[in-house]
Amino acid sequence: MSETRLLLCTDMDRTLIPNGLQAEHPQARRWFSEFCSLPQVTLVYVTGRHQNLVKEAIKHYSLPSPDYAITDVGTRIFRTNNQQWQPLQAWEEEIDKDWHGKSHSQLKKLFADISELQLQETSKQNSHKLSYYVALHVKQEDLLLQMAQRLEAYGTQASLVWSVDEPKGIGLLDILPRNATKLHAIDFLRQQLNYSLDEVIFAGDSGNDLPVLGSAIPAVLVANAANDVKKAAQGLSQKNSTQQSLYLSTGKNTHMNGNYSAGILEGIAYFSPVFRQQLKQMGVCCEQ
Ligand SMILES: [Mg+2]
Repeated sequence: MSETRLLLCTDMDRTLIPNGLQAEHPQARRWFSEFCSLPQVTLVYVTGRHQNLVKEAIKHYSLPSPDYAITDVGTRIFRTNNQQWQPLQAWEEEIDKDWHGKSHSQLKKLFADISELQLQETSKQNSHKLSYYVALHVKQEDLLLQMAQRLEAYGTQASLVWSVDEPKGIGLLDILPRNATKLHAIDFLRQQLNYSLDEVIFAGDSGNDLPVLGSAIPAVLVANAANDVKKAAQGLSQKNSTQQSLYLSTGKNTHMNGNYSAGILEGIAYFSPVFRQQLKQMGVCCEQ
């Protein structure tokens, strides 16, 4: 990474927000905010949360205000300016192509007979996002296969994204237009803003972050991520020959523990010599 500007894209829950089981380093979020206030840094939140829940988290956890927000697992992109959030219409038009004119309620009917699926709250649904809760004991693979077959037969191009709400102990299943993933949304925004791949860093922790973690986008997996996610991310990057663009934070070589925002900063120091210097000056890292 030779350029000095950075499009910093980060997941929120259990990546930036310390709402997992592991401890957060007491200085980490303050350092993260300080880093994001650098004029060269454009901050993008990439999250399963919807607009209001993102705003709520920013307030509750004293997070820096982003410049953009990719919300609802990639189905919405907003340009943000304090409380003024402007959706990028071009993105909605882009992903609408995958639904082939089918509506949210038509798709919902396709799965009405599957008792393992419990619809999420209305606030968590949108025209391009159909979301369910699934108990963790349910056999994921069989369920996903059955649903994918129905969607295909119906003529829609969709992705089924599985993740886990750790504190609540429940599975989250999102049905999205095929291109409405975090990966495609980040890439769309990157191209709209004219950033090259080596001017982007992504940070994540769980299932719906995997496509980005295994892609050519420089990506950091925070140390508090579950072991199966670490293995899956490594496997995917091996399969895609993108091992160079995946970094697993551990806390080594920094003065912190690699969890949450400490892990994000550690990844930035790993990928960017220029920003490593900045972090060194701030006292965040680094021995090497
Ligand atoms: Mg997360």
